[in-house]
Amino acid sequence: PPGRILVSACLLGSRVRFDGRAKTVADTIVECWRAEGRLVAHCPEVAGGLPVPRPPAEIEPGGDARAVLDGRARIRTPDGDDVTRHFLAGARAALDAAAEHGVRAALLKDSSPSCGLHRVYDGTFTGATAAGPGVTTRLLKDNGIAVFAETDLEAADAHLRTAPGHPG
Ligand code: SF4
Repeated sequence: PPGRILVSACLLGSRVRFDGRAKTVADTIVECWRAEGRLVAHCPEVAGGLPVPRPPAEIEPGGDARAVLDGRARIRTPDGDDVTRHFLAGARAALDAAAEHGVRAALLKDSSPSCGLHRVYDGTFTGATAAGPGVTTRLLKDNGIAVFAETDLEAADAHLRTAPGHPG
């Protein structure tokens, strides 16, 4: 079977973002993956039990994904509600889905506290960002899965077609 790629569900058109919208990537590379049966759609926050729509949430200032995974930092809404357990459950669900489908690569939506790669929002709810990654991205990378942002489609495609165990 072709190598599969775990993709943030919102990038594939699912209206699962906190604001009830999608962030669809319309690109021939994604359409090729779809035609080839490579796509594994996943939304960590919905898988972790959060509703749509939901309040935005950010890793608290001074924290990062590693600290969240280690229990040293929390993820909160603007009202201070602690939603950390949902983000951790969603990250584990992503890892389970990757294992179930033999996924060795992921294309995730940048800036999200779950799916971010290069940047995440910095916990101040001002729109400012800090260096990433998000919690799901961190866990996938820790487990040997190559993660690409939606701005890195060509690199993701090249990886998918050349990585061992990913014929064609
Ligand atoms: Fe998209 Fe990831 Fe946010 Fe779900 S958690 S809406 S897949 S960026």
